[in-house]
Formats: sequence, C-alpha cells, structure tokens
Amino acid sequence: MRQKLVAGNWKMNASRELLERLLDPVAQEKGLACRLLVCPPHPYLPLAAEKLKSTDVALGAQDCAATPEGAYTGEVAASMLADLGVEYVLLGHSERRQYQKETDALVVEKAGQALAQGLKPVVCVGETLGEREAGKTRDVVLEQVKAILTAFSSEELVKVVFAYEPVWAIGTGLSASPEEAQEVHALIRKAIAEQDGQLAEQALLLYGGSVKAENAASLFSMPDIDGGLIGGASLDAGQFLAIAHAAG
Ligand code: PEP
Repeated sequence: MRQKLVAGNWKMNASRELLERLLDPVAQEKGLACRLLVCPPHPYLPLAAEKLKSTDVALGAQDCAATPEGAYTGEVAASMLADLGVEYVLLGHSERRQYQKETDALVVEKAGQALAQGLKPVVCVGETLGEREAGKTRDVVLEQVKAILTAFSSEELVKVVFAYEPVWAIGTGLSASPEEAQEVHALIRKAIAEQDGQLAEQALLLYGGSVKAENAASLFSMPDIDGGLIGGASLDAGQFLAIAHAAG
C-alpha cells in the first residue's frame, strides 16, 4: 500500500507573513493519512524548516542546479538544499521547461545531483494543449519519463516521484478528468514496470493541474494516482488541508 503524498508548490509566492499563515495550520494538522510536502521558494527554506522541525511535514525545494558547486551565479546546489534539511526537490516543472527552456537532458543532470545528495526528485512531466490535441500525449509523457528511467538504477529510481501535470491544466481551472489522469498514470506505471516490476508497485505518481478541494477526492480515488502536486490551492491553508483530507 503506497502512502499518498500531497505536495504544495508555492511557485514564486512567499513572505514571512504568508509563510506563517500557511505553515502554522499545516504544522498543527493532526490525523492525516497522507504525507504533506511543502515547496516554498529557496530563500524561505530555512524559516520553513524551523517551523516544520517537529512535524512529519516534508520540505521541498522548487529546483536545484545541474552542477555541484562553482562559478554559477544565482544557482542553488543540491548539497545546499540537503544542508538545510530539504527532503524533496521539484524538477522539470512545465514553467521551467517553458521559461528557462529546460530540456529532459538538463532535468536528468539535476536529478543526478539531487540523488547524489540524498534528495528525492519530484520529476514533472506532461503534455501541452497542442500536443494533446495532436494525439501526442502518450509519446510526450513517455519520452519525458523514459529520459529519467534510462538514466538511473532501480536503487536510485526508488527515490524518484513522478508528477503528471498536463500543461493545459496548470493554473487554468481546467483539471484533467480522473479518467484522463488515470490513463496517463497507468501508462507511466507500465513504463516503470517494464524496467522493474517491484519499483513500479512502489513508485509514487502524483497528479497536478487545477486540483481543488472539490475535485481532489475523485482524482485521488484512481488506482494509479498517489496524491497531488498543488499550485494555486496550496497558497490557502484551508484549501490545501481539505485536499490533503481528500487523500484519505
Ligand atoms: C503546479 O504549479 O504544479 C500546479 C499544478 O498548479 P495549479 O494547481 O495551480 O494548477
């Protein structure tokens, strides 16, 4: 039985005031069956780590560098995140693929850095609206997933979480239906199974894209959906916790 994971991606939204408003209720929440993960922007990670230190809520970063250290102004190394008590790191989010032109090869390098530092990569994959309309969802998602699967051993992949996030569903209010999401999640799990059956059973596959308290339970009831990656709704503690409760 896989424990569900509900992750909040705050994107570029944070302040000391927002951090308290979001993390105080999350840190105090009791009786959840799922695990919670919060991913604030880098500068707020130490404050978040302090707030969450006596809880089981995991801390994640939104990106890491593809190189271990050195002359890369503005970059944040995986070792620095590990040093701050970060457990997960989002990689290959569609916004980074779009605005920073991140490729699968770069995402693989970043995942390598994260794994080498004991971090768990949450690798985001998903098709654009144009790709879905052109019937390319399967090919696009499998290419992104296989870039990771072929780059790492099963011992490394056991730490990798995949988040299926159709680009057309992110921040649009248009979620994939539970059936549409399940179809792609089953495809991802099958690709993992072709490499390692036991790994496929253990792998956590999150859905992201306009998850709200109202649609969370039906998405999370699907057999291959092991939780969610939540953007907008994670900036409201009540919504975020309602989504977490929908995870069972
Ligand atoms: C995201 O940013 O990963 C995301 C899924 O955003 P939203 O929930 O706002 O669609």
